This record gives sequence, structure tokens and C-alpha cells, in this order.
Amino acid sequence: MSRYVVLFGPPGAGKGTQAARLKDALGVPHISTGDMFRDHKKRQTALGQQVDAILARGDLVPDSVTNDMVDERLGRPDVAPGALLDGYPRNVAQAQELDRMLEARGRRLGDVVVIEVPDDELKARLKKRGLDSGRADDQDDATIQNRLETYVAQSAPCVAFYAGSGRRVHRIPGLGTPDEVTARIVAALGL
Ligand code: AMP
Repeated sequence: MSRYVVLFGPPGAGKGTQAARLKDALGVPHISTGDMFRDHKKRQTALGQQVDAILARGDLVPDSVTNDMVDERLGRPDVAPGALLDGYPRNVAQAQELDRMLEARGRRLGDVVVIEVPDDELKARLKKRGLDSGRADDQDDATIQNRLETYVAQSAPCVAFYAGSGRRVHRIPGLGTPDEVTARIVAALGL
């Protein structure tokens, strides 16, 4: 049986950190659309050049571009046992498209893990990550604010969409040490 899990939450919630720890416990690959876009930027591919300014502003890349990239990724054989999706979907249209992409392959998303962290803490974490990692979209206050507002306006409605479509939605408090948060998610997913 394959297992598809969406790791959901605002920027700075710790999705990437948790995904790196959970993918082994789940035995599935970690798919981060943010990492994929940053990789394209680094390699200066056509897609990388197309999304560069969008990432710098903290806006969402158009759905058609994002969905095509994810569809290609989901077609690779390593995803047959399942996947841990991080940063995708980011709006309800993407969530619906993900359902279609999985259904076309005879698969289904089962669990949605929502990592919840208060706004002040998110801002502090993003600033710190900007300083530590040099990640451009974590350094500018206006970009950070835009990403947090985009989450509330466009991404957060996915939680209601999933709750209303029979998925297991696990709301996980994201404060505490990374180990504590991992333990909560492991318990929620029954790993
Ligand atoms: P992340 O690393 O998940 O915070 O993503 C970094 C940036 O990549 C976002 O601010 C968006 O510009 C873009 N991005 C990542 N995932 C998506 C997505 N599912 N839809 C649209 N844009 C995305």
C-alpha cells in the first residue's frame, strides 16, 4: 500500500526540517516544490529563470507551472511507495489537481499534517533562517510578510478542503524542539 502525506503549514513552521526526519520513518521520498524551484534557479534552467522574480517577491508560481513540475516528479518510479509532500499544494486548485494526479495513477492522499506556529515566532524563525542560510526570500521583511499573508489567503483554505473530503487532518503544535515536534507527528501518523 502506498502512503502519500502532505506536510502543511506556513513558511517557517518547520516543514522542511520535519520532512527530512520523517521521510525515513515513512520510507518515501521527500518532495519539496520550494527546493525544486531553488534547484532550477541554481542550475539556471529556463524554469529557474521564469520563477526567479516570483520567488524573490514571495508570490506563488503559477499553478500550471507548479502542477506540471509535480506531475513529472510523481511519475518517477521512486514515488510508487508514496511521498511526503512539502510546500505543495499551496492553494485549493493545486489540492484538487494533486487529487487528480494521484487518482490517475491509482493512488490517494491519506494524511495531511498541519504544523501550527504563531505568527511572531514564524517571523523570528524566517529572519534567523535568512541570516543563517542566506536564503534571499527570508531576508527582506516585505517578502516575509507577503509569504505569510499569501499563506493565510491562499494556502490555509486547503485545510478545510481536506477536512471536508475525508482525509485525516492532524493539527500539530509546532512550538518546542524539532525532536518534540517530530515525536508528535510520528504519534499522529502511527509510525
Ligand atoms: P518554500 O521553500 O516552500 O517556502 O517555497 C519557496 C517559494 O517557492 C515560495 O515562496 C513560492 O514562490 C514558490 N513555491 C513553492 N511551492 C509552491 C507551490 N506549491 N505553488 C506556488 N509556488 C510555490
